[in-house]
Amino acid sequence: METKKKDIRALTKEQLRQFFVEHGDKAFRGNQVYEWLWQKSAHTFDAMTNVSKETRQMLEDNFVINHIRVDQMQRSSDGTIKNAVRLHDGLVVESVLIPTETRTTACVSSQVGCSLDCRFCATARMKRMRNLNPDEIYDQVVAIDNESRLYFDRPLSNIVFMGMGEPLMNYNNVLKAIEMITSPEGLGMSPRRITVSTSGVPKMIKKMADEEVKFRLAVSLHSAIDEVRTSIMPFNATFPLKDLREALEYWYSKTKNRITYEYVVWKGINDTREAADALVRFCKFAPSKVNLIEYNPIDDGEFQQANADAVEMYQNILESNGITVTVRRSRGKDIDAACGQLANKS
Ligand code: SAH
Repeated sequence: METKKKDIRALTKEQLRQFFVEHGDKAFRGNQVYEWLWQKSAHTFDAMTNVSKETRQMLEDNFVINHIRVDQMQRSSDGTIKNAVRLHDGLVVESVLIPTETRTTACVSSQVGCSLDCRFCATARMKRMRNLNPDEIYDQVVAIDNESRLYFDRPLSNIVFMGMGEPLMNYNNVLKAIEMITSPEGLGMSPRRITVSTSGVPKMIKKMADEEVKFRLAVSLHSAIDEVRTSIMPFNATFPLKDLREALEYWYSKTKNRITYEYVVWKGINDTREAADALVRFCKFAPSKVNLIEYNPIDDGEFQQANADAVEMYQNILESNGITVTVRRSRGKDIDAACGQLANKS
């Protein structure tokens, strides 16, 4: 029986160089192939035209390239594009291209499904099936970069880890992907243009701080009152706000990087003065700003976007306390591409 071939992109450059030496070739061949795999994003060994036919065959005999395939591309009336991305084992994740006047942002997935249980999020209804590999995350970015060049005549400018999954529950692979995205041997993007969004896993936030990562951090807060947060994000019972706060203070002390809080104001849940005051207090623990995001309905109306007055109340209280606040409109709603709507409907 044929043994399962290894995903060649699971090898480091050094391991690839070693492989060639062990197979009687020069280590330099490893550099060439590595460049094809990452920077040139080759889908097949046959595409590696500066490598001999025999070498390509030898690679074919030993490895596979588990490249993603964009199965379906949907375009929203506002220009947003959603890709349904098929993985080598047939599972599907989604990623989104969000164009504005000046930027193109890629919103990428880090897991198939999600193990968290946020009650307002469509992805939470799929169980977590597996983590994405670094190359599967990288490929989503490449696909969106290509689409950005094709449809908007400019390269991708920003990346947010706000697609399916909890990035900090797939920490190692997300960090490896970011390493390749920012490396000159990959896409050479600035880490300052990358934001990892988490529902807040204190231990992992501290780990990132210790590793002095250079990308930005966003936390899906939604409530700064434990009882309320636990009722909408049940894992908050395990990681209460006190621990989150402590981890965020640590993050700032190490990275000096301001934190973004993502916050939806819902009718009857957190649309009170008391809730807004709690948010203001939380924002004072570490330098931060708030994105008030619009709710994208996913269900029968259990959760409803609060009235404009409530959002304005939040905005005023935050601003009068010197906290930067942005009110974000949803993009790509008509194709279920907006925050919290990614659930492989197709
Ligand atoms: N797991 C990560 C990243 C994915 S969610 C995280 O929790 O941050 C990306 C953002 O969309 C989060 O801020 C999340 O709280 C928000 N979100 C989830 N469902 C939503 C919905 N139905 N409407 C608006 N935002 C939603």
